[in-house]
Amino acid sequence: MAIIENLKKLVEFESPSEDLAACRGVVELAIQIANENLKPEAQLIEENSRPIFWWGSKNPEVILLGHLDTVWPKGSFLPTWSVSGDIAKGPGIFDMKAGFLQAIYAVKEIPDAHLKVAVIATTDEEVGSQSSKALIERLSKSASAVLVLEASLNGKAKTGRKGTSMYQIALHGRASHAGLEPEKGINATTEIAAIVIEVAKLANPELGTTVVPTVMHAGTTTNTVPALATLDIDIRSFSAAELIRVDSAIKKLEATHPEAKLEVTGGINRPPLELAATSELYEILEKVAKKIGMAPIGQASVGGASDGNFAAAAGARVLDGLGAVGDGAHAPHEQILLSSIPSRVKLLTAFIKELIRD
Ligand SMILES: [Zn+2]
Repeated sequence: MAIIENLKKLVEFESPSEDLAACRGVVELAIQIANENLKPEAQLIEENSRPIFWWGSKNPEVILLGHLDTVWPKGSFLPTWSVSGDIAKGPGIFDMKAGFLQAIYAVKEIPDAHLKVAVIATTDEEVGSQSSKALIERLSKSASAVLVLEASLNGKAKTGRKGTSMYQIALHGRASHAGLEPEKGINATTEIAAIVIEVAKLANPELGTTVVPTVMHAGTTTNTVPALATLDIDIRSFSAAELIRVDSAIKKLEATHPEAKLEVTGGINRPPLELAATSELYEILEKVAKKIGMAPIGQASVGGASDGNFAAAAGARVLDGLGAVGDGAHAPHEQILLSSIPSRVKLLTAFIKELIRD
């Protein structure tokens, strides 16, 4: 199948988000593949000097949204392509190069799709979409539907996604000799330790709000009272109100020592994708699936955020997880089921047709 040949090319072209040249290269390759299959031609556009793949309408009613960057540094996922039976493995194959290609092959089946539909793939999704966020929000405001080609959950659509916040706390103490006169210092390590405990208490397991202290650095040498400590915190929640609660609590944190200085950077990154934004499209999807003789697709809420979160926050109807069927996003066993590709393309084609009818 041509789609599998093209998938191999896209996956073997490694494209970690941090590598701008590689991201440009993968967009150029995606354009080449699209132009072999679609008319009019796809284009490379730039948003805050980030390359973005764009095919179709400049003012789309239906946006097929994806990304071509991956979390895998070059050479960290080897081999970059392998097939065993029905399973194909490779860096970014599931998240979400297969989903991107399924979108290309779906619009290929729809005459004049370019008049109402756009396929857009960014290259900074895995690092928070700071460069492409404004574009996604702007387009989502006027679109009637944003279909996100991120990986499915065992074939299910994603109708809920947690929102995320990211913070870094810098704790400024004062250095002094740990042996001679530690009392003259302000120990940033013990100060940040107290903060870690406070921060962890902000989680709310009942509501699914997680608050996880992650990376921590403190001190310089073993015989110096540490002058500086830093702490990264990862927060996720299904509810915007919860993210706001945690945000204000983190901004109110104080050091124990009166002369220690606490500095907080970061904030709410992606708002949650809530059912209110997804339920309409999900119902349409199930109707379409039934009409073309497929079993019910199903829906799931998941922890990870995507660009669908931004689209929903901008007011668009969104449905996520319409991409590949497989497993292991961001994991060493990242893989897809090759046999699922034709039915996913068929479903997506019928879904788009329904959305742009009349
Ligand atoms: Zn992704």
